[in-house]
Amino acid sequence: MIYADNAATTKLSPVALQAMLPYLTEHYGNPSSLYTLGQRAAEALEEARKTVAQCLHCRPEEIYFTSGGSEADNQAIRSAARWGKMRGKTHIISTAFEHHAVLHTLAALEKEGFTVTLLDVGPEGRVTPQQVAQAITDETCLVTIMYANNEIGTIQPIGEIGKVCREKKVTFHTDAVQAVGHLAIDVGAEQIDMLSLSGHKFHGPKGVGALYVRKGVPLSPLIEGGAQERRKRAGTENVAGIVGLAAALKEACDHLDANAAKVTALRDKLIAGLAAIPHGALNGSREDRLPGNVSFCFEGIEGESLLLLLDDKGICASSGSACTSGSLDPSHVLLAIGRPHEVAHGSLRLSLCEENTEAEVDAMVRDIPQVVEYLRNMSPVWRDLQKGDRSYVIQ
Ligand SMILES: *Cc1c(COP(=O)(O)O)cnc(C)c1O
Repeated sequence: MIYADNAATTKLSPVALQAMLPYLTEHYGNPSSLYTLGQRAAEALEEARKTVAQCLHCRPEEIYFTSGGSEADNQAIRSAARWGKMRGKTHIISTAFEHHAVLHTLAALEKEGFTVTLLDVGPEGRVTPQQVAQAITDETCLVTIMYANNEIGTIQPIGEIGKVCREKKVTFHTDAVQAVGHLAIDVGAEQIDMLSLSGHKFHGPKGVGALYVRKGVPLSPLIEGGAQERRKRAGTENVAGIVGLAAALKEACDHLDANAAKVTALRDKLIAGLAAIPHGALNGSREDRLPGNVSFCFEGIEGESLLLLLDDKGICASSGSACTSGSLDPSHVLLAIGRPHEVAHGSLRLSLCEENTEAEVDAMVRDIPQVVEYLRNMSPVWRDLQKGDRSYVIQ
């Protein structure tokens, strides 16, 4: 089997698993308990917090553990909206191709009376700091822009956007779920106020994430209850999960450059191989791109059929984000970069990690063009294109 869907989730690293095991077995205490067994767990939590802080270049007390990236996004946005409203500021700026954890939270806030501006991301999926500066008004309480896109891999100029927001005194949140553990991030230098991350996108466990909140930026809880996470996130902590997240993140950050170099080389080889397929186009930026992301649209095929046939060949891929697959709507990300509906339907995302090999890339470069050709030969749309009854969108 070739696993090429690391943007959907990753395999748990053995280092993370080993770090977690004691907290699933002998160290099962509740971190809020005063006896030694509980305190052992409490210490592990604080160690994990320190580790995460080191990787992001912030202070441990600026890290709040959550149940994942979605919760971190929800909390950051809801909190900034709440504090904005208290000061009469009800305008939020984001982009049209955010993750649904952001877009659906913003849609809910719109129903509650907030105004949301979704910036145009252009054909490569990039937002400029100038666009952000122009969109900010006296009413703006939050700018939320993802660090790197989960479908097309484009990396945003986060430091420059952070600078604009800081100058205009507007809170800046970034969904960095695809970036953390894969790109070097310095929340101070990049002037980020809030950042979301998720363990299972960098070989940590699922169901655990974190929110960085810069000291001085107000934060309100999403989940009320006990006093955990300094009263910002109630609920007995997922101790083993948090320990595993920290271990995986440390491992990723310790090997960041070597992993990025290796994965980028695999990515470029795969892109070059798939670019030979006629009437196909790479989605996203060629340069400002996540090391492991390969995303294409192929005209005249259905992405879902392609995935099923690739699965038969043992290749795990995606047609967009895992959250939207299963629905027949084309990806909002591909529509946001201007792909027409019929082209957006023929999408393929392969996301690599440092465990993928050159032999796997060679196998994909051999198999995928064959499967695309097979599907095209059965497609009435492709027949019409060949006959000239309709014209190609991708030349
Ligand atoms: C995976 C992902 C999320 C959601 O994270 P979960 O931990 O699965 O809730 C949010 N944003 C982006 C960009 C993602 O890739």
